[in-house]
Amino acid sequence: MIRLGMGASNSGIEAERQAVIRLDNISRVYGQGEAMIRACDRISLSIHAGEYCAIIGQSGSGKSTLMNLIGCLDRPTSGRYYLDGVEVSQLSKSRLARIRNRKLGFVFQRYELLPNLTALENVILPMMYAGVGHSLRRKRAEYALQRVGLSDRLHKKPGQLSGGQQQRVAIARALVNRPVLLLADEPTGALDTQSAQVITQIFDELHASGMTLIVITHSQEVASYSQRMIRMSDGRIVDDSATPAAIPR
Ligand code: ADP
Ligand code: MG
Repeated sequence: MIRLGMGASNSGIEAERQAVIRLDNISRVYGQGEAMIRACDRISLSIHAGEYCAIIGQSGSGKSTLMNLIGCLDRPTSGRYYLDGVEVSQLSKSRLARIRNRKLGFVFQRYELLPNLTALENVILPMMYAGVGHSLRRKRAEYALQRVGLSDRLHKKPGQLSGGQQQRVAIARALVNRPVLLLADEPTGALDTQSAQVITQIFDELHASGMTLIVITHSQEVASYSQRMIRMSDGRIVDDSATPAAIPR
């Protein structure tokens, strides 16, 4: 069975172990001189195991830049980033790629599935990179697709699936290496209301099962499922507070 969330940590320090991510005065600067932009401006932030965070804010406020840093797709200009207790701020690109594959799951607005592979094959792929054995790969992939309600679509290619179903395949793919953190950038941005609801329900179930989630969203509905809302403006965190329970779902 796939154990979701609460992933094994290699850190020996108990306090570190609990913070899945810790950003310490992180900046990301693009360009130079007059054209210089501080897309992330001295951000400090800790997110703990089992938390469900929404990142909100206007377009251009730095959300995707922050997500890319948290997701080890980019490196900070300054500051320190600890992922699962390990400092990753200045690791080489190949080390970062390995860490992404092992520790992080990604869900994107446009699903980003490989069109020539079936749902099952798409979900199996990250386990091939991780060196999981053949029969275990298949078992885990089937289980992950079952979790997102797609047991009857294993052999369909993305083009034969609806947008919502494709996003569910993407979620199964994101989970299958048992990440310590699931990152989603506008996961319902391309979906109709009903399909979006299915996705938010899946996130809610993942949270209930102990997964740590960070979701960038414009949707009040999606954000209302989180426990913690982080609002960005001009590269800074301007609000970080508990999600009001009063927001109707
Ligand atoms: P958001 O996701 O909240 O819309 P971004 O993180 O994409 O915001 O962008 C934050 C700021 O950084 C914006 O001013 C944007 O124009 C700038 N920016 C983002 N990526 C780059 C880049 N690769 N090169 C130069 N500027 C960038
Ligand atoms: Mg963005």
